[in-house]
Amino acid sequence: MSTSLHELPEPMPLMGVKLTPFADYAHAIKTVSFLLASEDKVFSVAVNPEKIYRASHDRSLRELLNRAEICLCDGVGAALAVRVLHRKKIDRITGVALFFELIRAAADNQWRVYLLGASPDVNDAAAKQLQNDHPNLNIVGRQDGYFQEAAAVVDAINASDAQLVFVAMGSPKQEIWIAEHRDQINAQFCMGVGGTFDVVCGKVSWAPEFFRRTGTEWLYRLLMEPKRWRRQLTLPKFVWLVMKYKMGLEKDRGAPLA
Ligand code: UDP
Repeated sequence: MSTSLHELPEPMPLMGVKLTPFADYAHAIKTVSFLLASEDKVFSVAVNPEKIYRASHDRSLRELLNRAEICLCDGVGAALAVRVLHRKKIDRITGVALFFELIRAAADNQWRVYLLGASPDVNDAAAKQLQNDHPNLNIVGRQDGYFQEAAAVVDAINASDAQLVFVAMGSPKQEIWIAEHRDQINAQFCMGVGGTFDVVCGKVSWAPEFFRRTGTEWLYRLLMEPKRWRRQLTLPKFVWLVMKYKMGLEKDRGAPLA
């Protein structure tokens, strides 16, 4: 048996959760290709300041995030917190950019892909767009994210023989769903991708290059969808939490590192 989990970089602990320090996207893709050549299963989550803050107040979310084998450093705030608290550098690997890289790799390598989540229209349009962009892409199944019978969805995923399952049902719903069903799902790689299908089909625009480069996608999203302002309120709370860690007023209430 191959040892793909040993190919994963040593996780970096951060404020009760952990981050997987991939050097770059190519490193992440290589890790997934090792995984698919092994018998291991991996659950990947994107970790950003909002999730870190919520996890600091929610033990079950913290434990759930710590059960994921891959925790992407999805937010510039998370990377800055690593720098401030551990004096280490970690590069950002965003969930949406990694999704696009994985789709490209899947098309090149004929990896079997399942798309789970979003509204029926968005799921359909995203699949068509991906297929159009990558004619070789092997989408073996898909399902919108508003289903009733989870067991039937798990059966459909297994019947499709998918290797990669992308789950776009928003956070933390998608992470909870993956964690609850991962043992029954045969696919080796499951990843929560939030609103990525909405981006793929153009319903939501991906932050322009400037915002991506400066790590301010959250600001772009706030400008485009002001009704999400409540979710952005966690950002100053996250900064305060980092300061509390820095001053020693807070320490990991520790779910163990997986
Ligand atoms: N969604 C879903 N099932 C649900 C709730 C949400 O499939 O029960 C989808 C929704 O249609 C949208 C995505 O999940 O496509 C949520 O996107 P959002 O950008 O809010 O994700 P987040 O920012 O939470 O990662």
